[in-house]
Amino acid sequence: FRGRPAGEVAVIGLGKSGRSVAELLARDGHAVYASDAGTGDAARQAAESLAALGVAVQTGGHDLARIARAALVVASPGVPPEAPPLAAAREAGVPIVGEIEIALHYLPALRTVGITGTNGKTTTTAIVGHLLRALGHDAVDAGNIGTPLAELALRERPPAWAALELSSFQLHDTPSVDPTVGVVTNLSPDHLDRYASIDAYYADKARLMANAHAGSRWVLNADDAGVLALHRRIGAEQLAGEVRTFSLRDPSAAAHYDRTADALILDGAPLLPRAEFPLLGDHNVANALAAALAAWMADEAHRTPEARLRIADALRGFHALKHRMEPVGTYGGVAWINDSKATNVSSTLVAVQGMTRPYVLLLGGRHKGEPYTALAEPFRRHGKVVLAYGEAAPIVEQDLGRLVPVEPVDGDFAAVVARARALTGPGDAVLLSPACSSFDMFRNYEERGAEFRRLAAAEQGTA
Ligand code: ADP
Repeated sequence: FRGRPAGEVAVIGLGKSGRSVAELLARDGHAVYASDAGTGDAARQAAESLAALGVAVQTGGHDLARIARAALVVASPGVPPEAPPLAAAREAGVPIVGEIEIALHYLPALRTVGITGTNGKTTTTAIVGHLLRALGHDAVDAGNIGTPLAELALRERPPAWAALELSSFQLHDTPSVDPTVGVVTNLSPDHLDRYASIDAYYADKARLMANAHAGSRWVLNADDAGVLALHRRIGAEQLAGEVRTFSLRDPSAAAHYDRTADALILDGAPLLPRAEFPLLGDHNVANALAAALAAWMADEAHRTPEARLRIADALRGFHALKHRMEPVGTYGGVAWINDSKATNVSSTLVAVQGMTRPYVLLLGGRHKGEPYTALAEPFRRHGKVVLAYGEAAPIVEQDLGRLVPVEPVDGDFAAVVARARALTGPGDAVLLSPACSSFDMFRNYEERGAEFRRLAAAEQGTA
């Protein structure tokens, strides 16, 4: 997006980000058409406030002919690429970009830590934002997490920094993304339901690096073959800036976990003992290492012993995010852990690898296509039994039944939780890390996690 498309801009979707981007464009004098399939309160309110700015607003549907004549289409993150308005734009050859592409144009001075990867984006972004603020930067968490970037662009005084979470879909629609510091947490097959091939998925992730400026800084996962392959694919010379890595095992990585000392190491010196970082699981140590390195690299002036102490202190005070290895209570000596956000096998794999006491695993929901067999080996270490539930239960049983104890549970989610309670005692844990989407029983993973928390507490009453 270079600022002046000759003609109308069509904004598809009037959620938080669509609404902000339509306002941003209208205030800058563009002719804007904005539409949303919904007719609910949110859409109506957005329509009212945008109409006052001269935006042509439509709710309850889209004018496909008008969209096909637009000079540019801005797609909201929630709108799937095959949705009729986007299909119409594509067919007519109208360029499609995302809200972030437009917002970045209006935030020329903003410095960003851009974070992508298959898993750990939100956690890493939240830690990065937290660390930047601890270092005294005026920083906001934005993108997929928290505030839309376009909303920041509307502020009279936008922040100096954004910790910016970028999904592969958002990267696809942000052709000129060029972060101050870029972070790639890890890469494994995901969203195969929405991508034609793994290659297409990796190609979108590679976009983070496609415009790298000379002084760009990069934080890459040295333990991840996919990330290293991405680096090669881009060509090392394009990332001529500062490329540094984090690792759970390689002591030559700039940020690493020293297992012998049981400590996190940053740029050649100890940062803090593992036990002082509150999040569960090695994967969260990886997220902390990535975030600490990104915050450390963000500003040369902050690569000092004082900054190291501040980063360590801020890591000590960081709390688990909701639905991500989140301890929700200990009842009768049983720890209940909500990892509802784990909607693919690789997420559940790291959860299982992070467990250190006996536990029952709640696995199931809507099957997404990947086999579950990889979970068997790490599960055996401390796992007692897998409770298979939801639509995926027969597939879970088929994949894992020969390898570890699996018990299918018929009935609703409350029955699954009740069974978990019956199978555990003091010193045990119950882990909800379902490796599936939630849509067979819930509206989304948040609702699934909230229900788990509620039922766990209710089980306390009946124990
Ligand atoms: P994202 O935003 O990329 O979906 P989150 O931080 O929300 O990532 O974490 C989602 C799930 O992914 C977590 O519940 C956890 O199971 C898994 N996860 C988090 N960090 C990592 C990591 N560094 N490597 C692998 N899996 C991870």
